Amino acid sequence: MKIIGHAISVSTSTRNQMLNITRQVEDAVAKSGIQNGIVTVFCPHTTAGITINENADPDVCHDILLTLNKLLPQNLSGYQHSEGNSDAHVKSSLVGCSRQVMLNKGNLVLGTWQGLFFCEFDGPRTRSVHIQVMGQ
Ligand code: ZN
Repeated sequence: MKIIGHAISVSTSTRNQMLNITRQVEDAVAKSGIQNGIVTVFCPHTTAGITINENADPDVCHDILLTLNKLLPQNLSGYQHSEGNSDAHVKSSLVGCSRQVMLNKGNLVLGTWQGLFFCEFDGPRTRSVHIQVMGQ
């Protein structure tokens, strides 16, 4: 069994944004040479996340962010964290900071309409994403 680590940089342009990073993850898997196993996609940030959702209609990402913003307004009365980005911290915990995807014959096991997304909740920023491929 091999374990190959890789990191990518992601630049966001707005405060809340979902970026499709499926291609970058596929590239990291291809470079690893690993055919069967699992890939972990992890973001080391407390105001961002990683999720899997629809890759075809960009309106789905729009609507996910709209829903999160309605549920978690930036200036909710009662927030105490002095940075003023508590909504982003809560969104990060709700979405989660990592996903794992199975690998089969070098391919990510994703549904036709699924993609991996980096979720920015306190941008614009330059972020990093770690991709670890484990298998043979
Ligand atoms: Zn903060």
